[in-house]
Amino acid sequence: MVSEPSCIFCKIVAGIIPSLKVLETDHALAFLDVNPVNLGHILVVPKSHHANLAELSEAVAAHIGSLLPKLCRAVQSATGAAALNVVINNGRDAGQTVDHGHWHLIPRYPGDAVHWPWTHVAYPPEGPDPLRERIASALASE
Ligand code: 5GP
Ligand code: ZN
Repeated sequence: MVSEPSCIFCKIVAGIIPSLKVLETDHALAFLDVNPVNLGHILVVPKSHHANLAELSEAVAAHIGSLLPKLCRAVQSATGAAALNVVINNGRDAGQTVDHGHWHLIPRYPGDAVHWPWTHVAYPPEGPDPLRERIASALASE
């Protein structure tokens, strides 16, 4: 288990900073966000420090993925929300402010003030295929 002394979420995992926990496993912790986007907003964090999703082990990513269905059900049942956004802000330009990668589960309510959906862009004149090729080729060299 890697712990980074200056990391807020490592301090929460270690119990140095208190949190309102809803689920704990050997490798993950879920707790209420201190500054929720909507009531019932929770965070799921791997216990071991990693800066972002790209650095997470496949095993821990799979473990957290396995927790998401029941966490969604529990948050929806507890809040009455009919919908959730499950979001990862991966890197500063994507809005990540705590450099210990984590999942947000944000309940959504009819007519709430959350800004969604995202805007969209058009593909360039050459179309989407060059992008598909670059991503597929990067995956092939993993
Ligand atoms: P990010 O912007 O990195 O995707 O999300 C970080 C989240 O962590 C924010 O929603 C913020 O409210 C939450 N957060 C930051 N510090 C604390 C804390 O000390 N305790 C809890 N429970 N949540 C925190
Ligand atoms: Zn950390």
